Amino acid sequence: METCHYCGSYTGDKKIYYKHSMYKKTGTIIPGASYNYTKTEVSVPRCQSCYDKHNKKMFYVEFPIFIISFTGILYFFYNLNNGFKILLLVPSKVLSLIITYILGNLFDAIFTELIFKVKIESDVRKNKKIREYLKQGWKMNKSEIK
Ligand SMILES: [Zn+2]
Repeated sequence: METCHYCGSYTGDKKIYYKHSMYKKTGTIIPGASYNYTKTEVSVPRCQSCYDKHNKKMFYVEFPIFIISFTGILYFFYNLNNGFKILLLVPSKVLSLIITYILGNLFDAIFTELIFKVKIESDVRKNKKIREYLKQGWKMNKSEIK
């Protein structure tokens, strides 16, 4: 049994562990711009309760944001075109997905930490396993590769 990174209670169900992708530079293609890298997934222990809280975010935060922005954008295009065209669905969907991604991440911290009182899913920098990978030169995100 390991302890949940997010709340400290015991957990052993590896299926619900949070998998964080980490990256390591293997070579340089264009200095300062483009690199070869390798990727690995680090499993961060998580309990059922924290797993549920993290996944509720999808339903309570991301889904409503998507519906609202999708309706809004569709309505905007509708007015712009003076009518509905089936093709409008594509840009509306793409734009709402982008908005959902941005706002979802923005509200994630507020929602997860204030309402559910649990660390956000990606808040794993202080985890023991992650720290070991960081020491070996692995990076938290692709953008950190230099
Ligand atoms: Zn937990």
